[in-house]
Amino acid sequence: MCKPARRKPEDVTLIAVSKTHPIERIEPVLEAGHRAFGENRVQEALTKWPKLREQFSDVRLHLIGQLQSNKAEEAVQLFDVIHSLDRESLLKALAKAMDKSGRRVPCFIQVNIGDEDQKGGCPIADLPAFLEKVRAADVPIAGLMCLPPSDTEAAPFFAFLAKLAADNGVSGLSMGMSGDYETAVQLGATHVRVGTALFGARG
Ligand SMILES: *Cc1c(COP(=O)(O)O)cnc(C)c1O
Repeated sequence: MCKPARRKPEDVTLIAVSKTHPIERIEPVLEAGHRAFGENRVQEALTKWPKLREQFSDVRLHLIGQLQSNKAEEAVQLFDVIHSLDRESLLKALAKAMDKSGRRVPCFIQVNIGDEDQKGGCPIADLPAFLEKVRAADVPIAGLMCLPPSDTEAAPFFAFLAKLAADNGVSGLSMGMSGDYETAVQLGATHVRVGTALFGARG
């Protein structure tokens, strides 16, 4: 996927989204040498990954789903990267959990790129101020993340997220899923989150 986009493979992390899939489906992918995985629920990840990590200790686990503040402590202990930091209450909970554990987990700031009521994500207009708060809280910023509106062309939203990142001095871009990761890579994604295209349909 990188060559046609003139991107270097080492600059794009393929996150294998293993949510809903049991350990038996994940093990072969680990055995093939893949190490970056994504889960969207803290509780589900806790049932699978502590066990898998006994065997594959260099796994990097990404939390890609919405996070409730009361799960911040568990999330900071289990995950290596969080892709869904989008509000001040969660920022406070994560900063507190990081101070307590001494683990500073890089976070992508999720942006509500399509301005959709039902979706999580920081409103576009609030992004500069929110980034300032994240920096002040000493929470490492991995980049920006988005989930474009479904049933519409994703490219303009990916391009917009890339522009927001450049305008705000942020370098990482978590964007692109099974249906549109190639477009995302062309538009600068540093992390693509791919489930169905790797594991097949979820049950
Ligand atoms: C499930 C999920 C994905 C992966 O979606 P696929 O279409 O199966 O590739 C990516 N990002 C987020 C936030 C998800 O919840």
